[in-house]
Amino acid sequence: MDANQDGKQNREQRPEGVKAVIPAIPAAGRIGSTLLEVKNLCVSYGAITALQEISLTVRAGEIVTLIGSNGAGKTTTLKTISGVLKPRSGQILYASENIAALPPHRIVQRRLSQVPEGRMIFANLTVLENLKMGAYLQRDKALITRELEYVFEIFPRLKERSKQVAGTLSGGEQQMLAIGRALMSKPRFLMLDEPSLGIAPLLVKTIFEKIVEINQQHGITILLVEQNANLALQIAHSAYVLETGRITLQGPSVELRNNPQVKSAYLGG
Ligand code: ATP
Repeated sequence: MDANQDGKQNREQRPEGVKAVIPAIPAAGRIGSTLLEVKNLCVSYGAITALQEISLTVRAGEIVTLIGSNGAGKTTTLKTISGVLKPRSGQILYASENIAALPPHRIVQRRLSQVPEGRMIFANLTVLENLKMGAYLQRDKALITRELEYVFEIFPRLKERSKQVAGTLSGGEQQMLAIGRALMSKPRFLMLDEPSLGIAPLLVKTIFEKIVEINQQHGITILLVEQNANLALQIAHSAYVLETGRITLQGPSVELRNNPQVKSAYLGG
């Protein structure tokens, strides 16, 4: 199935009621060549094996989601790609370079950023100070100002609250801040770990709309880890199912949404 068909099917098969809330995912031939290729990745915590030979591919311009239940290894996958954890074996090819041995800041320099689970904002700093932390590798003040304007354009709420102490923001606003902070490093590839966690349903919709906007209008490739498989499969082009450290299913999201195993395990029947 080519990218055009894929996008068209996703739009047409989106369940009623969601259309109005979440914009259509990109259909156009914007999907490019492979940007990230994870090959036979094995990761352990001491004697505990968390990932066993997982492989996945993300093409430029795509939203790819990784779904799975608690403890499946989703966070471990993202942390290993972002350099926080080192694999026991396997390759992580980003723009054709094996980044598996690079430290996190070198990976951020290559424009691959992660929004961590639980947001990890600096609660005692203001919104503006938190955002500036996201540009810690940037020395050029004019570029930082430009990035701030770009983030405020995507999240006007953060501009309104720029002087507010981050710890007093609502959960949804803190998630916006965490995404905004990652955007300050000007990523080409953004990984999001459970952006819906602990957020009121209305703001979850806003956050997912923003994820689509970041992908569609700003051309940022996205790898999305989500327990809310229903929402994730609505906005993603393709998906992987992770179970106890192994990839058990993969394919276009529209196919996985209709897969009986996925339906009963992750979509409430
Ligand atoms: P969740 O949705 O609950 O966040 P997950 O799919 O992200 O789960 P991981 O956090 O990647 O799963 O965990 C994968 C496995 O590795 C689990 O069995 C977990 O207990 C184990 N694990 C994670 N972090 C550590 C650690 N620091 N030390 C030991 N084991 C760990």
